[in-house]
Amino acid sequence: MDPSSIIRKTAADLRVIPNLGDYEAERQHFSWEAVSRELSSQPHGGVNIAWQTVDRHAAGGLRDKTAFRFLAGGAPGRVMSYGELSALANRFCNVLRGLSVGKGERLFILAGRIPELYITLLGSLKNGTVVSPLFSAFGPEPIATRVNLGTGTVLVTTDALFDRKIAKWRDRMPTLRHVLLVADDGGTTAVPGTLDLAALMASALDECEMTPTTAEDAALLHFTSGTTGTPKGAVHVHGAVATHWATGKYALDLHADDIYWCTADPGWVTGTSYGIIAPLLHGVTSVVDREEFDAERWYGILQDESVSVWYTAPTAVRMLMKAGADIAKKYAFPRLRFVASVGEPLNPEAVWWGKEVLGLPIHDNWWQTETGGIMIANTPAFDIKPGSMGRPLPGIDAAIVERHKDGSVKVIDTPDKEGELALKCGWPSMFRGYLNNEERYRKSFAGEWYLTGDLAKRDADGYFWFVGRSDDVIKSAGHLIGPFEVESALMEHPAVADAGVIGKPDPVVGEVVKAFVSLKKGFEPSEALRLELLGHARKRLGAAVAPKEIAFLPRLPLTRSGKIMRRLLKARELGLPEGDTSTLEADA
Ligand code: AMP
Repeated sequence: MDPSSIIRKTAADLRVIPNLGDYEAERQHFSWEAVSRELSSQPHGGVNIAWQTVDRHAAGGLRDKTAFRFLAGGAPGRVMSYGELSALANRFCNVLRGLSVGKGERLFILAGRIPELYITLLGSLKNGTVVSPLFSAFGPEPIATRVNLGTGTVLVTTDALFDRKIAKWRDRMPTLRHVLLVADDGGTTAVPGTLDLAALMASALDECEMTPTTAEDAALLHFTSGTTGTPKGAVHVHGAVATHWATGKYALDLHADDIYWCTADPGWVTGTSYGIIAPLLHGVTSVVDREEFDAERWYGILQDESVSVWYTAPTAVRMLMKAGADIAKKYAFPRLRFVASVGEPLNPEAVWWGKEVLGLPIHDNWWQTETGGIMIANTPAFDIKPGSMGRPLPGIDAAIVERHKDGSVKVIDTPDKEGELALKCGWPSMFRGYLNNEERYRKSFAGEWYLTGDLAKRDADGYFWFVGRSDDVIKSAGHLIGPFEVESALMEHPAVADAGVIGKPDPVVGEVVKAFVSLKKGFEPSEALRLELLGHARKRLGAAVAPKEIAFLPRLPLTRSGKIMRRLLKARELGLPEGDTSTLEADA
């Protein structure tokens, strides 16, 4: 099959009537005000994500419906209804009140995809406490950096993660007042300086009065990376639910009887917006798998859990492709009716692979931490151009723009011309700021446009095509990694004089993190030192962020003002033209 040929949709492809049938008509009639009206009004006014996602259902007809099926790698999992989830979140809200944790304080969660993550996240929101979920594969350094930037006062984690990543670093997080531990064996914990979450939950009440929150109150803090400086904390508000609801409807096509599986971890924005909020808003049942990728097990989950809507990532699709079609043939997916993916470019071959092996093409969609929700998507009813991210959803205006030196932008109307992807401000889940970094936030806008930092093209049919990033951030296995954070960790090693980090293209994970280091006087490159540096970085940064490759260079290419020219490191690594090197330091 020619990977570039269009996948035409016919009525026979649709197993249910899609929520977005007539794209043009829906875009024309759409208004965010109408969406807000469709979301239930809360008994005491205001908007709270926990009420919209859980309490509303628990108080109505979905009380006994399963919200989450937590799989436990072969062992009997835990099934949790909307009613139970609501009561457990109430308990946690009461736990926080008992600890005098209030509205606006920031609570961090460092845990795998265990029930307590979901319960404490929703309970915190009920208390008006802002939640920041952290990826459990982060090492101690990225964790401490984020907790400190967010002045976190509470950390919820497990005893194993505490032991490995927090215990020795706790005094580097001086704002933390409470560390609440979940026992990995399901029992109780008694670690000095921490509190046992199970014990606190056991003595808390099932009922609580929700702390009043408005649509503009902060709810979630998701960290993302830029080229330079520390990670940026993107602040999201309770009113974002309007976007999660609309995109769950249009881009994921959620229907009441769906069994839904989002493979993303809530430590990244997709796992929160679409692993927790959107499916609960739509009252569907979600499957949660806490284990890491395994082709056999994943096919088994799709089959045995009767998954009907699956939201995953290009790296995972490519890993399934690599595992071979023979494995897939052992399984059947009669209930699967819609598959979508996000986070990195989805190659046309992967779209077609879905059609051949799963019986359905993969629908790529695009968004980022700052947008809070899906902005551009391929949806069930319209044709797919494999390789394209799709078209802007109803309520979203996207354009390709050109930045001018004076800070203004010009919209490029000519089809297929490359420029920066921009979105017209005004959708409800747009981030409301970078924590403590007003200037960086302001620089993300030009007039009515939010500038995404992605380079893209729009074709004559209105489909958007990803071209690349306009900065040096790295996308590895769908995770955004800031080169500066990796360079800083490497430079803490006594042998390292300078470090420059790039994303090296990889056929499966998109890019792998590669570091170039120059050594201080008295140190010589050697295999032993290379391995030591890899180990040092992995211990500090964790497996998700640490470089996979390290190479020694006598000196790194620096600009005359002393900045590392990562672009040049990358061009040299890939054997590409070096481009403009006029700012390069002599001899570099
Ligand atoms: P994050 O903020 O970690 O979710 O990363 C967002 C970035 O991931 C975007 O700005 C893009 O660079 C990239 N990205 C997300 N979705 C896609 C997609 N469908 N195709 C290409 N790149 C994507």
